[in-house]
Amino acid sequence: MSKGFILVISAPSGCGKTTILRKVMGDLPGLVFSVSHTTRPPRPGEENGRDYHFVTREQFIAIRDREPSGFLEWAEVHGNFYGTGRDEVVARLEQGLDVVLDIDVQGARQIRRTAEPVTVFIAPPSLDELARRLRGRGTETEETIALRLRNAEIEMEAASEYDYLVINDRLDEAVESLRAIIIAERSRRRRRIDGTQVPGII
Ligand code: ADP
Ligand code: 5GP
Repeated sequence: MSKGFILVISAPSGCGKTTILRKVMGDLPGLVFSVSHTTRPPRPGEENGRDYHFVTREQFIAIRDREPSGFLEWAEVHGNFYGTGRDEVVARLEQGLDVVLDIDVQGARQIRRTAEPVTVFIAPPSLDELARRLRGRGTETEETIALRLRNAEIEMEAASEYDYLVINDRLDEAVESLRAIIIAERSRRRRRIDGTQVPGII
């Protein structure tokens, strides 16, 4: 078992995942964010290497098709490719860090098959509120907002596959819930690694 664990966070776009993660990660030591590769163009303010590794379709396919694949998981979302780099994640886990993967439901399904992740789904209080937040963020056209809302409905059906559900109604409460989940999971895993208590025997 690796020293750290993978924390998968999925949420329909615009639910506040980035806002929540920024607050939790600023507060809890030992958490690192896995920077994904994507073929989507950068949004204003996004930086290569910090928000994403922005690559061409050809570069993405070359990494994906290595043997073994350079990606732990990958998916096509909203017409673009996204993937989690294998080497970066494995190295961080070995260092004892917990690695946050901000990935979609297809990616979460792949990670569950190969690792033992902790999975958290973040949902909006309602689809109307999600639409307001997407418009308020000002980064999408009406066309991409409509696409993201349609996808949100589909993605929300997968919420029951996750270990935890956090509803981002009041931001401070959502942040506190995610913090509590991570702290609890650290205690649970530590118990197994230390062998001080055998799993299943309470
Ligand atoms: P995501 O990363 O899930 O796409 P963002 O973190 O970019 O979403 O949030 C989308 C928009 O909603 C941002 O403008 C953000 O400030 C706002 N937002 C996030 N959480 C809340 C909340 N609990 N209440 C109101 N607005 C929020
Ligand atoms: P955005 O374009 O808004 O940054 O992300 C769109 C969607 O792609 C989000 O649901 C996000 O979680 C997902 N995503 C980002 N990186 C990855 C990744 O590496 N793998 C997968 N499967 N999904 C990703």
